[in-house]
Amino acid sequence: MQFVYQLRANGVTDSDVLRVMETTRREDFVSPTFKARAGEDTPLPIACGQTISQPSIVGLMTQALQVTKRCKVLEIGTGSGYQAAILAKLARRVYTIERHKPLARAASRLFQDMDFTNITVVASDGTTGMPEQSPFDRILMTAAAEDPPANLLAQLRIGGIMVLPVGQSDTVQTLLKVVKHEEGLDYHALGDVRFVPLIEGLAEDIADT
Ligand code: SAH
Repeated sequence: MQFVYQLRANGVTDSDVLRVMETTRREDFVSPTFKARAGEDTPLPIACGQTISQPSIVGLMTQALQVTKRCKVLEIGTGSGYQAAILAKLARRVYTIERHKPLARAASRLFQDMDFTNITVVASDGTTGMPEQSPFDRILMTAAAEDPPANLLAQLRIGGIMVLPVGQSDTVQTLLKVVKHEEGLDYHALGDVRFVPLIEGLAEDIADT
């Protein structure tokens, strides 16, 4: 209950988002070392030097994305898979891209164990998106870019919504909601956030085979 209280106190008010987050165990997505801290509203380290985002930020981003059961969603930055699991409970289909193969593999295995049938994990460079599955109703980036990547905006359906952190890495970034209309794009700033940077290309991981 304290978990949901924290989310509410930080502005997550959408009842569907709160319900789904209450039933998605964050401890399942972190390493044994950090399981005891999974209920805290802080980012935590995961493999490959990355982080699982702060729950209240996950909630605010999910809420801003206005996901419905009809939505086909693209996520850039699978990481632990926590955000993708939350999206998958609200959407029809989720495609999620991760540049670190070990993270993509671990998340994929986790989704299988959890009986998700509507999540596809792809190990590749998310900046190019997934043209073969486009257009997407919703796109969520969980790594920060200086600007919204043009490839991704092109793969967003008219009427679609994209949520992403923008700004220089290692400084405060702005959470941006972009709505695509026939006539162009609308931008709404949602507040300050801090994310790991979006990096082009597939990562070379030492443990990779
Ligand atoms: N959504 C994640 C948060 C992960 S942090 C979760 O719920 O746990 C951001 C992730 O974006 C990192 O795992 C990082 O490796 C990944 N990333 C950064 N640049 C990327 C790119 N160009 N393509 C795909 N993934 C990328």
